[in-house]
Amino acid sequence: MARFDLITIFPDYFEALELSLIGKARTQGLVDIAVHDLRDHAEGVHKSVDDTPYGGGAGMVMSPEPWGKAIDLVSQGSGPHDLIILTPAGKKFTQAMAEEFSHREHLIFACGRYEGIDHRVTEFYSSQPEFRVHEVSIGDYVLNGGEVATLVMLEAIIRLIPGVLGNPLSLAEESHTLTSEGEAIVEYPNFTKPPEWRGLEVPEILLSGNHAAIKAFRTQEAVKRTVNRE
Ligand code: SAM
Repeated sequence: MARFDLITIFPDYFEALELSLIGKARTQGLVDIAVHDLRDHAEGVHKSVDDTPYGGGAGMVMSPEPWGKAIDLVSQGSGPHDLIILTPAGKKFTQAMAEEFSHREHLIFACGRYEGIDHRVTEFYSSQPEFRVHEVSIGDYVLNGGEVATLVMLEAIIRLIPGVLGNPLSLAEESHTLTSEGEAIVEYPNFTKPPEWRGLEVPEILLSGNHAAIKAFRTQEAVKRTVNRE
């Protein structure tokens, strides 16, 4: 079973993981998710996890000590461990990465706050043979913390794990999934009942029962949408 360890100073963000398909996947034993409070690994009365930046500048930086302790604790036992450090400076998250991570056995998510995590955490674990370290961004914008980014990644990854979706066929034609020709296009527009809504009719061909024509129509619409969003 795939294991996910999430390290954060705001464990409550992850209550959403009890809901919907991920909640069900957890109760069915398809995934094992554990949330850890970084402050449990901080010293002193104030359980401080940050300090002023060397070299000056605004804001605070997350100290390496509590991160090292928390990551060491969750990575006891044999690797490999995939350590994902959320940062807007990281490699942009894609469907292809979600697919790759959905095959991994142990993923650790390090949710930064403030100005981010002391860079030596990335450097240290990158030098450890049992770790694969990935600095990942969910897009070119800045969030307040890595928790929401982790939720985004978990949704994309966990739905690809066999057994999580009720109908695995729904994955086959989804947006950003590589086609047999090796292309990633977005999905065609979808319609359901009623056949007419506020004067708008469902494209007639979808009601025709002609599967070949429907397939051709959908491909054409998917290509149109793919081109239009660029
Ligand atoms: N000073 C950092 C910079 O300019 O690159 C931004 C830090 S941000 C305010 C605090 C934390 O939010 C980051 O350490 C990271 O964990 C998370 N974060 C913010 N934007 C993100 C994004 N686009 N993708 C992933 N994580 C993000």
